[in-house]
Amino acid sequence: MTSIEAPAWRMAYGDSPPEELGLLLSTIRTFLTRELWPLEQEAMSQGLPAVPRDLLEPLRKKAKAAGMWCFGTPTEWGGLGLGPMEMALVLEEASRHTFSLPDAGDGVFGYDPPNILLGGSEAQRQRYLANAVENGEQWFMGISEPTGGSDPARAIRTRAVRGDGGWVLNGRKMWTSRIDQADHGVLFARTSQDGRDGITAFIIDLPADGLSWRRIDVIRDHHTNEVLLEDVFVPESQLLGEVGKGFQLAQRWLNQGRLKIATQSVGAAQLALDMACEYVPKRETFGAPLSSRQGIQWMLADCDVELRAARGLILHAAGLLAAGRDPRHETSVAKLYATEAAYRVVDQTMQVHGGIGLTRDMPYEHWLRALRVNRIVEGASEVQRMVIARDLLSPR
Ligand SMILES: Cc1cc2nc3c(=O)[nH]c(=O)nc-3n(C[C@H](O)[C@H](O)[C@H](O)COP(=O)(O)OP(=O)(O)OC[C@H]3O[C@@H](n4cnc5c(N)ncnc54)[C@H](O)[C@@H]3O)c2cc1C
Repeated sequence: MTSIEAPAWRMAYGDSPPEELGLLLSTIRTFLTRELWPLEQEAMSQGLPAVPRDLLEPLRKKAKAAGMWCFGTPTEWGGLGLGPMEMALVLEEASRHTFSLPDAGDGVFGYDPPNILLGGSEAQRQRYLANAVENGEQWFMGISEPTGGSDPARAIRTRAVRGDGGWVLNGRKMWTSRIDQADHGVLFARTSQDGRDGITAFIIDLPADGLSWRRIDVIRDHHTNEVLLEDVFVPESQLLGEVGKGFQLAQRWLNQGRLKIATQSVGAAQLALDMACEYVPKRETFGAPLSSRQGIQWMLADCDVELRAARGLILHAAGLLAAGRDPRHETSVAKLYATEAAYRVVDQTMQVHGGIGLTRDMPYEHWLRALRVNRIVEGASEVQRMVIARDLLSPR
């Protein structure tokens, strides 16, 4: 299937896409199909939850050498410097694989450091950004707590108290993904009781005395963690942004994160649909290929419509982001629709495969589990509806 030329591409650029971007997309497609898919296939057939990291390392080196590295980070820090629209296309393409939905290409294309670091002090940018890109570092983000993730402005109880030369943090974080693979992260703590104006962001270097975590397995292939902070000292230089402005930073990060999750969900679901379209002409029942059945055709057509609609919403939000507008409403619309639509598409395309789609060495069950998680993380569907309705009903 050639969905590179087709939906995402045309929707964004009509019939004359920028040549360099086209080349990047087809290079990513070839790289994933030739290099990553065979490793994923092997891992799936062995029942592994992921491709072993040592097998991914050579791919990471190749991708980096070929310039397919940290797509969204500005070039001055070593990334590719793609804008939101280009990112929407590239991330979708880079998500056409099986495992690790939160990591495009299983992490072989590096990890963009959190966008909010770009707004840090000059010393922080110098200290962290180039290294993060050069070494392909993962960062953790600690917002959610056991008291709840949907409403962090009220739920954050982790306290940061000013001490000698810095801050002392105490509390508990929940669902802190990647902390066990990261050297650094951003953690949000309460510095006063002023609601959302009482939250401050801190850069945490690991290991840190007093900070420990416990692994939590969930239904997707990637686990997450619970974190305990007991008198963790954070020097003043690690304060990110201003005291009391952490919630705004979290929102900035979430805007980008929500779009990313939406895009990756569409990428995986488009591959699921492409695979179904390849399968149905080859499978015969009752003397004719499945592809000749209107019931099957309509399922596939509905999947296509849903993915195109999701992509359109993503590109709309990305366009606003690129224009420097606040795309909170549009990002919520895109995240809500794309994650729910991608889940439906994978469910439907699993159905057309019959029993074979349920086997462990097909990617459908990996996608289904990961996409189920995507409907909750970074703001569950209900929270997105709340954001949308609040905006609709607010006085203009
Ligand atoms: C695998 C995984 C990885 C994660 N990674 C991270 C991470 O790295 N960093 C981080 O900070 N967090 C992370 N999270 C947390 C995630 O963002 C939260 O789980 C999510 O925001 C929901 O919060 P909650 O689980 O506390 O549910 P709750 O806030 O308790 O909500 C429970 C349910 O009620 C619904 N609900 C809530 N409020 C309303 C309302 N007003 N009206 C109607 N329905 C409502 C919600 O949609 C949800 O379905 C991760 C979570 C998971 C499962």
